Amino acid sequence: MDGLDVPDRKVRLREVGLRDGLQSIAQVMPTAEKLAWIDAEFAAGVREIEVCSFVPARLMPQFADAAEVVRHALGIEGLTVAALVPNARGAQDALRLGAHKLNYVISASESHNRANVRRSREESLAGFREVARLAAGTGTVLAGGVSTAFGCTIEGPVAADEVLRLVDGYLAAGAREIVLADTVGYAAPNAIRSLVRRARAVAGEIPIALHLHDTRGLGLANVAAGLEEGIREFDAALGGMGGCPHAPGASGNIVSEDLVFLLQALGFDTGIELPSLVAVRDILARALPEVSLLGAIAKAGLPRGFAPPSVSH
Ligand code: ZN
Repeated sequence: MDGLDVPDRKVRLREVGLRDGLQSIAQVMPTAEKLAWIDAEFAAGVREIEVCSFVPARLMPQFADAAEVVRHALGIEGLTVAALVPNARGAQDALRLGAHKLNYVISASESHNRANVRRSREESLAGFREVARLAAGTGTVLAGGVSTAFGCTIEGPVAADEVLRLVDGYLAAGAREIVLADTVGYAAPNAIRSLVRRARAVAGEIPIALHLHDTRGLGLANVAAGLEEGIREFDAALGGMGGCPHAPGASGNIVSEDLVFLLQALGFDTGIELPSLVAVRDILARALPEVSLLGAIAKAGLPRGFAPPSVSH
């Protein structure tokens, strides 16, 4: 894997379990447990967490405590606090609190976007431009996410051109990061390689992150392909939380703990202490007893003699 022979050995894991994971379960996690989760992940070395979604509480009671969670997370020095904002209204709330990063999402598939947010992709892009106007001058980073970038449960294959058109629109509006999301686990490593290459040609110096689901078991293989293409930021969820409404029972986001294991095995520096990260699962097991946590490392333990690269913060 000569692509791994690059000087940049640092990889950032962005925990999305508090948003992507929690939004897929019925049980509302008590606020105190969310705060304990955030604290414990930070203590384990995680330096970026998407802590909530700014959606109306009547639509998603899970995030009724978004303001409190963001306020708490902002009190942790050194943690990048990200929040999902579906529209300008949500962005206003997040900006008022001073969130460091706003994650916005548009589906590359027109039908998926309409099914999700009842807007066309063009309307969603116009919404992002509004968010960008609100965020101008605040120092808050805007991340433009393209969901179903590798395929869609309604339309099937998604053309790369559709993805690139959105990337272009995001960049023109002021996005400072692009996130390519395999929302429903359709990607294989070759698809990751080719889309990342094409997106990089459009994005230039703007960093690209991958948001991968393990719906069909290729999550970590796709990470490896992303690493070879120079990707150094990956979303993941503790215990692999986050399902897909179109595939009940299917696995969700790639597992944070297993991602760290892969990265360490390949010699990348994540800044994360794996045993401490695995221990954070106890909080979820206690607070969400009905959720089945996934993850190979938590179940099997580390290989005997496994030596992670030295950890830096
Ligand atoms: Zn997701």
